[in-house]
Amino acid sequence: MRLDGKVAIITGGASGIGRATVHKFVREGAKVLVADIDLARAEQVVAEVEDAGFAGAAAAVAVDVSVFADVEAMVARAVEIFGAVHVIFNNAGIAGGAPLLEHDPAVDYEPMIRVDQHGVYYGILAAGRQMAKQGAGGVIISTSSVYGEQAAELSFTYSAAKAAVISFTRSAAYELAEHGIRAVAITPGRVATPIINQFSQELRDTFASEQLRGRLTEPEEIADVVAFLASDESRVINGTVVSVEDGYSVFKQRLD
Ligand code: NAD
Repeated sequence: MRLDGKVAIITGGASGIGRATVHKFVREGAKVLVADIDLARAEQVVAEVEDAGFAGAAAAVAVDVSVFADVEAMVARAVEIFGAVHVIFNNAGIAGGAPLLEHDPAVDYEPMIRVDQHGVYYGILAAGRQMAKQGAGGVIISTSSVYGEQAAELSFTYSAAKAAVISFTRSAAYELAEHGIRAVAITPGRVATPIINQFSQELRDTFASEQLRGRLTEPEEIADVVAFLASDESRVINGTVVSVEDGYSVFKQRLD
């Protein structure tokens, strides 16, 4: 029960990494606002939580993280339902991309920057203000990607947005330290969620082979780390990137 008494907001909580983290946080004693643009699926996750024996531990809210007023309303809703906000996991995101020279900025740049970059900034700002007002510290965890630290195929915009998440995290940690608020970014590699599962088996096998255990990461494995980062056990981890990529960035050469 490492998160006993904590209230957390998880954006993108209806699916994948977010959904697994909702379940993990509730098992660790937290109250969780499941925030997603897909309200029906967020409500389904709340129903799963209740079926697992944690009635009242989670609630759903519709949010488009690319709209600041929505994000402010999400934070206000968490306070209304659960009384405070101690943790925000800025995790909602979209993936995909096109070759740079084929970009239509209105399709291949602006929408992704709005969700993956602005969305994280809005979450840091709105939740940071609430945490500072409460005066009892807090933790801001944001999902970047290994692509936030490298160039990759079809990833021009995604890499930029995910790099911004790392920069926001450093600056937020610096600016909010006086309020006892920590900020941490995570960089997943290849996680078995709808983002990856949409691809062919052949491509998924290639993705799996890029990680040191030779398999895709399960969303629950990311959730375990996020729960640690949200807890006081990780209190000296601040302003930095925590790699959750199963060795993706480590050079390896297979001879077979
Ligand atoms: P997912 O598609 O299962 O979950 C993403 C969730 O975000 C969905 O429930 C979706 O409805 C929600 N969402 C999308 N746009 C939104 C918006 N504007 N407002 C609110 N909610 C919105 O994917 P996932 O793999 O669990 O992705 C979670 C995060 O992890 C994303 O930021 C993604 O970029 C990042 N990530 C994933 C991988 C991977 O391999 N799956 C790798 C690195 C980083």
